Amino acid sequence: MPELPEVETVRRTLMPIVGETIRGAWDSAKGLHMQRKPPRAKLKKLIGATFTAPRRHGKYLLLDTTTQYSLLIHLGMTGRVLIHDKTTARPAHTHVVLDLGTKELRFADARRFGQVDVVERSKEHAHPALAVLGPDPLVHGIDPVAFAYRAKKKKAILKTFLLDQSVLAGVGNIYASEALWRAQLKPTMRAFKLTAANAEKLADAISETFKIALENGGTSFSDFIAADGAEGYNEEHLWVYGRAGEPCLRCKTKIKRAVHQGRATYYCPTCQTS
Ligand SMILES: [Zn+2]
Repeated sequence: MPELPEVETVRRTLMPIVGETIRGAWDSAKGLHMQRKPPRAKLKKLIGATFTAPRRHGKYLLLDTTTQYSLLIHLGMTGRVLIHDKTTARPAHTHVVLDLGTKELRFADARRFGQVDVVERSKEHAHPALAVLGPDPLVHGIDPVAFAYRAKKKKAILKTFLLDQSVLAGVGNIYASEALWRAQLKPTMRAFKLTAANAEKLADAISETFKIALENGGTSFSDFIAADGAEGYNEEHLWVYGRAGEPCLRCKTKIKRAVHQGRATYYCPTCQTS
């Protein structure tokens, strides 16, 4: 599932839509997972609007326009936002298309766990998807004091705590394992046991993990691609995720895989000690 670095990569590759005017909107009439009805009536509000700036909060993209409306997109598990020439055949599972003249902005999603919506900019924080989000590590930075304070109130294990989008928006399953390895913290430590020093270490590890992933264009595995069609190559640079049985890059101990809340966690049993 795309996480902050992948969605940020998409945002950056969406810059060519700035200045493009929306001339028409089409949808497949198939509902997307988080929103059963197709957003047809809302998409019509965008016709005549010109894209200004693509923004991002956590895993959500917000494509602002010259009107009060912005296009909200969540990639879900397999969602792709693509800028294509109109003459290029639409990819399978295309569910939303905005006509930009010679080009189209297309949203394709095989598993339909993604979301497309139109929000009013002044009311965007009231949108149910955005209302629950905590700060974005890249846009707002991570305040280690506030981060430690949130942890103090949580009984959940650290891995689960990191996946809570109200704590930090944008951390998902891959980068939670990666950041914990980098900070040398046990994924199963209870969040409330996080000391101020370890909170700072973890905050730094998250920022650093995201920075490296972004430099590598995100982690693709099977589905993720940028709006220009490029695949990321961060999977070649992952420290623990997907490396069960392989040697830890720090201490050579075999990396272990565990399952927490139905999701895989990868860690080193030797050097993730506190
Ligand atoms: Zn190790």
